[in-house]
Amino acid sequence: MTGIIFDIKRYAVHDGPGIRTTVFFKGCSLRCWWCHNPESISPEIQNYTRKVTFDGIEMEVEDTVGYHISVEDLLKEILKDAPFYEESGGGVTFSGGEPFVQYAFLKEIAKECKANGIHVTVDTTGHTSKKNLEMVLPYVDLFLYDLKQFDDKKHSEYTGVSNKKILENLLFLKDQKKDIIIRIPVVPGYNDDEENIRATEKFLSGMNGAVKEIHLLPYHNIAEGKYQRFHIQSKMKRMKSLPEEELYPLKERFEKNGYKVKIGG
Ligand code: SF4
Repeated sequence: MTGIIFDIKRYAVHDGPGIRTTVFFKGCSLRCWWCHNPESISPEIQNYTRKVTFDGIEMEVEDTVGYHISVEDLLKEILKDAPFYEESGGGVTFSGGEPFVQYAFLKEIAKECKANGIHVTVDTTGHTSKKNLEMVLPYVDLFLYDLKQFDDKKHSEYTGVSNKKILENLLFLKDQKKDIIIRIPVVPGYNDDEENIRATEKFLSGMNGAVKEIHLLPYHNIAEGKYQRFHIQSKMKRMKSLPEEELYPLKERFEKNGYKVKIGG
């Protein structure tokens, strides 16, 4: 079996515990206005043109994002870092895009990793079917689970999909007693209002302690060039990146509710 990925990041320290290898899957079922990985959205391998300057001369070069890889070859890549996992309590993280877009491939590679004693984390939007979750669940140790917006109308507008399935799946993972870290991309004007923060607190308080850690991800405007490169129309108004210190009050607020909170993923 083969899947399509677009990057493998080694020695990652923000995608779960310890030192990790993060594998980025192509394809996402959401269309977040603030996406800083627009190259991950299409499930296909894509060719694009980028400008480079060589000896003071600007020129255009062809490049490709995404490539096919078999389960066996990807496992070999992951196993290269096994000594780091053992020493640091790390492992592999499957991210994207949305890894569940390629759920069959995700299941196979997660299964092989577990069979080799590797800690498996999946970084997900939660926008998939319960059947897909159930299929992959036995091979996952930890979910990094995104929560973006509780008002379903706004969620649909800003991400292209309803949050209903996402919230149902999170409750399902809680019932399965899975380890979960919540990740909240904090986007000024889109989900940082009091109403949404309160709704987040209320929902998490109903998770019966299943969530112990929250990661607040400040908005970054690093992707503007990528949108042009992939001919994607950005709906986001031009905005500065959010400095980390502006998230300190929110961090304290969640900490007072008993969570361990990190700024950054
Ligand atoms: S879920 Fe992530 S990858 Fe998908 S569109 Fe949103 S920000 Fe981009």
